[in-house]
Amino acid sequence: MFIESFKVESPNVKYTENEIHSVYGYETTEVVHENRNGSYQWIVKPKTVKYDFKTDTRVPKLGVMLVGWGGNNGSTLTAGVIANKEGISWATKDGVQQANYFGSLTQASSIRVGSYNGEEIYAPFKSLLPMVNPDEVVFGGWDISDMNLADAMARARVLDIDLQKQLRPYMERMVPLPGVYDPDFIAANQGSRANSVIKGTKKEQVDHIIKDMREFKEKNKVDNVVVLWTANTERYSDVVVGLNDTMENLLASVEKNESEISPSTLYAIACVLEGIPFINGSPQNTFVPGLIELAVSRNCLIGGDDFKSGQTKMKSVLVDFLVGAGIKPTSIVSYNHLGNNDGMNLSAPQTFRSKEISKSNVVDDMVASNGILFEPGEHPDHVVVIKYVPYVADSKRAMDEYTSEIFMGGKNTIVMHNTCEDSLLAAPIILDLVLLAELSTRIQFKAEGEGKFHSFHPVATILSYLTKAPLVPPGTPVVNALSKQRAMLENILRACVGLAPENNMILEYK
Ligand code: NAD
Repeated sequence: MFIESFKVESPNVKYTENEIHSVYGYETTEVVHENRNGSYQWIVKPKTVKYDFKTDTRVPKLGVMLVGWGGNNGSTLTAGVIANKEGISWATKDGVQQANYFGSLTQASSIRVGSYNGEEIYAPFKSLLPMVNPDEVVFGGWDISDMNLADAMARARVLDIDLQKQLRPYMERMVPLPGVYDPDFIAANQGSRANSVIKGTKKEQVDHIIKDMREFKEKNKVDNVVVLWTANTERYSDVVVGLNDTMENLLASVEKNESEISPSTLYAIACVLEGIPFINGSPQNTFVPGLIELAVSRNCLIGGDDFKSGQTKMKSVLVDFLVGAGIKPTSIVSYNHLGNNDGMNLSAPQTFRSKEISKSNVVDDMVASNGILFEPGEHPDHVVVIKYVPYVADSKRAMDEYTSEIFMGGKNTIVMHNTCEDSLLAAPIILDLVLLAELSTRIQFKAEGEGKFHSFHPVATILSYLTKAPLVPPGTPVVNALSKQRAMLENILRACVGLAPENNMILEYK
């Protein structure tokens, strides 16, 4: 049975006018390697740590500024939200289609809340905690192309034509602000697009972005802003001692107009200086060490990298299944054909390299978890190929071959072919990223013994379900397995309302 909303009744949970307080027993373990009776043994000690969570339930009016607003993702997301808000339906060759938020974890997935008269009860994921309604988000942002959003939607060739016609009046007056353009960081083939750029030194560009964000906030009367990079993939920046390795050096390098500070890092600096959450949806190393230090020192949320939309998402499911089933993946080969502007930009070796790096570490945690299948340091062969094929436009082809060793030396090869509009996968993920980033800024917690409430670490690991190469604070394990990432997110939100993690034991029926 499906219910729309619920309230938790428990001595550990208190709903006040503006907050939900919960006291939560976190069941965990401590692992020690100790000398017992003359020999070293691994000892695992279960323990319970008491946590206090408080969530501000006042949902702000949210503004979202996209860097690369006029791109395929930016225009598709904006169009999709308007279509949902306005309740637009449109004719297709298969019949009438209604706007929806399919593909969004927060808007279109559900959680189990318990059982009632022997029936499982599910509720929307978004009913866990008060979240911004995506229909109410105000969109804006920057692009190095001055094309309005209606024309950008047509250029993207993603949405049905009848829908585009209905959306045009809403979108033709939406024009991206000029963007920071540096041809050294993206493919040369993007040059013809760059007709709307912020001039000046790097410092002036940062100041300009700050001014843009203040004006956007003021003009649209939004309480909070989240900025997300969905612009072209950049090449990696060199990380150099004295240049961008510390917060001081990075800020000094901006003042000195150092050429190696990328546009994406400039936008991120501007956001952190303004206390505005910044999320990176592309693979490049926007978050150089100096920027991470700056975000930590200002306690400003940063999250990334690279949307986990298609091939990598499947990989983080399939390899988790294989390794979890005791099957040894030995070779993973992934081909991509895409014909959109992203594909054209990725046809340059430097930008392709960013994507290759981002796609390559995704199975590491699963491989490292099984010492029966893999020797320490052993990895499956893992190859990623991306080719630009203009004809397929945004409808990306992802072809994957997984070869595994099975029982008694047998070999098992699984081949997958996935065809899908890339931007229709990415748009709901962008929505989840900004909604969850906003929500996480309203959650405070403290562990037993900690005096004061504090927010999550500014490097937002809570968003890792949505990213290909999750950015984590130094010393934090990277989790790529999709089911673990989802469970982490759901269970943290459950903790905020005093619900136990979903343990799937269903002892009630045993
Ligand atoms: P796109 O090329 O259609 O859009 C990017 C937009 O960014 C363009 O309009 C371009 O003019 C603009 N731009 C470039 N540099 C800029 C700058 N410095 N400032 C402001 N605007 C700038 O690409 P897309 O398909 O929308 O994808 C966007 C990004 O998302 C790419 O980096 C892509 O790799 C990444 N991504 C996409 C998916 C997906 O499924 N679609 C998945 C993971 C990552």
